[in-house]
Amino acid sequence: MTYYVGIDVGSTTSKAVVLGDEGGAEAYSILRNSYNLAESGRKAFQMALDKKGLSENDISYIVATGYGRRTIDFQHEVEPEVICHARGTVELIPACRTIIDIGGQDSKIIELDDKGVKRFQMNDKCAAGTGRYLDKLAKGILEIEIEQLGDLSLRSSNPIHISSQCTVFAESEIISYLSRSEPIQNIVAGMHYSLARRVIQMGKAANIKFKKDVVFSGGVARNTGMVKAIENLLGEQVIIPEEPQLTAALGVALMAREGFLKRGVS
Ligand code: ADP
Repeated sequence: MTYYVGIDVGSTTSKAVVLGDEGGAEAYSILRNSYNLAESGRKAFQMALDKKGLSENDISYIVATGYGRRTIDFQHEVEPEVICHARGTVELIPACRTIIDIGGQDSKIIELDDKGVKRFQMNDKCAAGTGRYLDKLAKGILEIEIEQLGDLSLRSSNPIHISSQCTVFAESEIISYLSRSEPIQNIVAGMHYSLARRVIQMGKAANIKFKKDVVFSGGVARNTGMVKAIENLLGEQVIIPEEPQLTAALGVALMAREGFLKRGVS
């Protein structure tokens, strides 16, 4: 058996997917990064190998993607993130025409056609359009865990409106709502709508039409409150992959296998 690994070293988490000669993931890992991205990428790789009882010598080809893809030194190649997201998502959901990916420190909207990526827009400049916005407000101001955000916000019937475009000013707005005893579920739902509006607006400004099927991926897609906010603003359902953080790692693993087999290396 020949094995291939795709590694996505993101800004917040590192992910690795192991593929065999055919079929889908044989093993995978998702690991929260330390400050040392190279070490986190290496650990995610090792964790995925351990799950399958493999050693590095068993792996024929390794390709990396993600924000920190060049920090590791054991990959054979690197690939840009957007095509890896596209490849992995289409493998799982072939009818996908739009990807909304919200990670820890960036967000992307990718429009696909039959040939692949048609256009995309990305924000990695401003925390307010990324998972960082929710992380910072949840832990810093509301003192709750991010895993609680979804359920809490689904209990809201009256989300607050956050007008600030910036995380720091949004913090002040939320503190003033808290001082007026606004129920926390309305605040959390308001945070979700604020992030969802910003991400959708980014896509619309780039002329992306949000054609069906729309797939929502990245760690923030685990948050059911964000799923609801995006669905309500788009006016249609989105599809969440079973492991929404793994799409780029799966895509780059598939590219590792396809590239290796095409070149006929053995
Ligand atoms: P990246 O690829 O940019 O490193 P990920 O796609 O792994 O990031 O997403 C990380 C983000 O996902 C973080 O902002 C984190 O708070 C969020 N996240 C992960 N799991 C959950 C969860 N269960 N509920 C809410 N948010 C989550």
